[in-house]
Amino acid sequence: MEYRRLGRSGLKLSALSYGSWVTFHNQVDVDRAVESLALAYDHGVNFFDNAEGYAYGRSEEVMGAALAKLSWPRDRYCVSSKVYFGPVAEPVPTQRGLSRKHVMDACHQALQRLRVDYLDLYFCHRPDPDTPIGETVRAMHDLVAQGKVLYWGTSEWSAGEIAAAHAHARADNLTPPTMEQPEYNLFARHKVEVEYTRLYQEFGLGTTTWSPLASGLLSGKYADGVPQDSRFALPGYEWLRKRLESPLGRRQVAAAAELGKLAGTLGCSTAQLAIAWILGNPWVSTVILGASRPGQLRENLGALAMAEKLTPEIRKRIESISAA
Ligand code: NDP
Repeated sequence: MEYRRLGRSGLKLSALSYGSWVTFHNQVDVDRAVESLALAYDHGVNFFDNAEGYAYGRSEEVMGAALAKLSWPRDRYCVSSKVYFGPVAEPVPTQRGLSRKHVMDACHQALQRLRVDYLDLYFCHRPDPDTPIGETVRAMHDLVAQGKVLYWGTSEWSAGEIAAAHAHARADNLTPPTMEQPEYNLFARHKVEVEYTRLYQEFGLGTTTWSPLASGLLSGKYADGVPQDSRFALPGYEWLRKRLESPLGRRQVAAAAELGKLAGTLGCSTAQLAIAWILGNPWVSTVILGASRPGQLRENLGALAMAEKLTPEIRKRIESISAA
């Protein structure tokens, strides 16, 4: 495993990490979670990503039960949660957003569900237009001061919103955000490659990037329709299937097939090639992998070896295929 600093902080995260969105609870029970988490850990993965909104808290419960079974030393791994969407399908106003009230409640609930004393990383899952940024910055700072959170950050905030959080922190001598969690894959590049560039230089922003395979599309497995055991066939995820059937989705399926041909010539899988390409971006602190079964995780962890083999020419070829 390769370890990278989380931005300018001293925390070193494994370049490949493992997240539980969609999978834990919906597709993965505690025993399967134990299997996948152990596989990741044995490969050197030290960061596991979660959120209050994943399966309305039940993803955190599955991960918490699995972590309890695994009983790894707490100083050998990092775990995260995120606040914003709320822990139930229809949250009342105090149960969602980034008010001081909900930031505090969600943190305490995540600690209980994950069965840990502190969160290594805690994210504001989306910006909240109904809460002044300064209120959220102070709530996060207080959680850091209380030792309940070690590093706080944002997810899918604009560069301007992240800069505003830094300005509030500087003005009031509070802890600024350390990292952002943006989508980053061959089909979603703008935020990481263009919008955030000044933040890496100015604030030493770290990134924990999500959906490296665009929800599985970049594995190439959707070329012949939707496999019944896949995320796109799950109840509640019809929106993914719709996206797949749109003109853009169809172009992306074709691009994934083209990438598959290139991967074949390089002796790796399509998923490995797509993940290896992400690892080539030095502004990425860690790529959060998703996997609903251990075999996928094992395959995706193989991207690390592939990353070393990607020459600038191969990267260009990959980028021209995915932009087509
Ligand atoms: P991916 O884009 O990599 O999709 C993962 C899914 O693709 C798997 O669950 C599996 O689905 C399929 N898959 C993975 N590997 C393979 C393979 N080798 N061959 C075939 N199919 C494969 O990642 P996610 O979208 O899951 O995102 C990763 C993590 O990022 C999440 O778990 C979460 O922690 C974080 N995230 C954060 C968000 C945010 O807003 N901050 C939003 C989304 C994710 P299937 O069951 O269909 O086989």
